[in-house]
Amino acid sequence: MQHNNSINGSFSLNDLVASNQFGTFFGVSQSVFDTVWKNLTNPDGNSVVYISMEIGADPDVFHPIKSKLTDLEKTDSKDTRLKAYMKKLFNGPGKIPCYGGGLGVLAGDTLKSFADCKIPVIAVSLLYRHGYFSQIVDSKLGQISQIVAWHPEETPGLYLLRDPDNPDQPLHIQIPFFNEHDHETIASAQVWMKMEVNHSLDFFVPELLLDFSLPDNPKAITDAAGQLYNSESSIIKATQRRMLGTGILPVLQALGITSKTLHLNEQHGVVVALQLIAEELLQTIGHSDFTQASNEQIENAAEKVSQKLVYTIHTPVKAGHDRFNKSVYAGISHKSCRHILELLANDDDSPHSYNFTTLAMRVNRTANSVSRLHRDVTHKQFPFFADKISAITNGVHHLTWISDARAELFDSFQEFKNWRNDPGVLQKAAELKDNSRFRTYLSRAWEKDSAILYEYVNNMLMEHRNQMTSTWIDPPNYYSNIIDNSNRLSPKVFTVGFARRFSTYKRADLIFDNIDTLCKIATDNNWPINFLFSGKAHPADEPGKSVIKLILDYQQELHEKSNGLIDLIFIPNYDMHIAKLMVAGVHVWLNNPKRPLEASGTSGMKAALNGVPNLSIMDGWWVEGYHEGLTGWKFGHEGPVDEADLSESPEALLYPEDSASFYNMLPGVLEEYYSPELKSHFLDKAIMNLCLNVPIFNTHRMAAEYLQKYKLKLPKTLQNRMDGFAKLYNSNA
Ligand SMILES: *Cc1c(COP(=O)(O)O)cnc(C)c1O
Repeated sequence: MQHNNSINGSFSLNDLVASNQFGTFFGVSQSVFDTVWKNLTNPDGNSVVYISMEIGADPDVFHPIKSKLTDLEKTDSKDTRLKAYMKKLFNGPGKIPCYGGGLGVLAGDTLKSFADCKIPVIAVSLLYRHGYFSQIVDSKLGQISQIVAWHPEETPGLYLLRDPDNPDQPLHIQIPFFNEHDHETIASAQVWMKMEVNHSLDFFVPELLLDFSLPDNPKAITDAAGQLYNSESSIIKATQRRMLGTGILPVLQALGITSKTLHLNEQHGVVVALQLIAEELLQTIGHSDFTQASNEQIENAAEKVSQKLVYTIHTPVKAGHDRFNKSVYAGISHKSCRHILELLANDDDSPHSYNFTTLAMRVNRTANSVSRLHRDVTHKQFPFFADKISAITNGVHHLTWISDARAELFDSFQEFKNWRNDPGVLQKAAELKDNSRFRTYLSRAWEKDSAILYEYVNNMLMEHRNQMTSTWIDPPNYYSNIIDNSNRLSPKVFTVGFARRFSTYKRADLIFDNIDTLCKIATDNNWPINFLFSGKAHPADEPGKSVIKLILDYQQELHEKSNGLIDLIFIPNYDMHIAKLMVAGVHVWLNNPKRPLEASGTSGMKAALNGVPNLSIMDGWWVEGYHEGLTGWKFGHEGPVDEADLSESPEALLYPEDSASFYNMLPGVLEEYYSPELKSHFLDKAIMNLCLNVPIFNTHRMAAEYLQKYKLKLPKTLQNRMDGFAKLYNSNA
């Protein structure tokens, strides 16, 4: 479906193979590869390193090379070489499970937009051989977490870089760790590369994934390397952060990458700042015993290093900020390093901890929040740094998240010509608001996506039903006891989608606070409702897991009290694939965090991109995306926010108030969906999301705003294009 003119009929497979001293890569031509690499290794350093603890960019959800080859296969099905190549490339797993949620998916979306916009960027993250975790759900036990069975060696599109001096061997980088006596041990990592190739296959952004799970590494290292956000102990957590932070400079050096700007996506990799400060100090004091460095020398070094760093803060929630007890950090770092931390990472709340958020706040040239409201909250949390924190509201990668059916719709209207290159053209949906062909096609695309989603859900429920007798797992859904071929859930029923991590502040159970009230809304009016929920709780987050259990426990009661009008279904093992099915197939997207704890939220943007209206608390991006009566609905507590609102304690989570507000709003929404006279308003909202929200809440616009912070020199046409995206919005207004 992806049409482009760079590689057409004259296509040859050689146009998609490139190699250099580190390996052979598939997806772009040699000349494209060389141009990108030359940029990243140019002594002028005119490029950016994007650093993230996680990157979510599953190829089963977005894969331009595969799309291109699938197109070619359709037109040239006799080319057996092509078939053989495709088999080799795509018969492996389409998932790289090294992400836990929004932060990683945002990183992946951002890198894809950088690739589309041809911005010279390279990313660094870690490779986790056990991924994050795989979720099984049992109605009696709730969430059960399992290690992900995943083999990078068998994953197409992941390349183990080889050592140019020893081409039979993988490239290794080495990083010193220390014990409390400053005794050094060396940890090695091999380096995997994935490429985010743009949709015309003429540019890419490399991702370097450091893999510390090597048999010769000390056990403390391999223990920490296997699983994303392993928080078994704070030493494991600190070790993991240090692997990322200290790995960056060695891997860039090994590859000859020269980038002058480093972008920290959250503070997880901030140890790189310590490395850079150490390099500076070595120059000024001439030796590496930095305990001898004066405060002034350290501050001067930090000031210089600041000029290289751009920092994005992603959450006001405490658990998102790394603090380590000094004694814990002493077990892995050198005393020279701790001497610097003493000065730059002090924690206002605890004299015994280093606060890595403080360090990141201090050592950067510019920092940003991920929405306007989050900026205001961040200014209150970090008043000392308020001047340098501006807002760049998050976005999502439109080519990843727009469903095939919607994409086909956009393709068939001249008004949207070029929408793949420029999501801003969706503004023109306003002109089509009264066009009956457009309205019909949009409804049909939506119905098609709902049908696809329900096919998935019904098959899942049936499968669980069939498994009931053969496994020890009780099916997660009560509905598996009811379903049979004549009783499948219907896509015509008003469907509310909710999917995200199960953190308590996201309040997945909020709208079930008063089941009687909820059921009465359905039974009084004979309005059926399906709630489709999905999401993982961190395996160590007991309160989060108990919310999943509550959701399961409510299912039967909801079904019975509503006389079968309401069903609540839980889809286990949430990932990008499930997210994409859900955001396009439901009728509204629900978001009910406690304001102002959701810094941005992105799943609602994915829904909006498909024209699905949001029902949301006025938090994060929705403060900017909500237009009264036009794009969706709001509910819950509003008003100015202060420090006290940041409390995550159960009493402060406002269940009674915000759920009552939801019950107040819901009948109006249902009426609009079910009443034949009002139904057109529902479709109007879909169209208004396309025209008001798609042009703004996408990662092309976001990349353009980041670009203003990066100070890159770009070719004029490219710069003009990015300026065009940036003009569509000013996040920091
Ligand atoms: C988009 C996405 C998220 C983030 O959703 P939020 O609304 O920001 O919480 C998490 N997980 C997956 C798999 C996603 O696709």
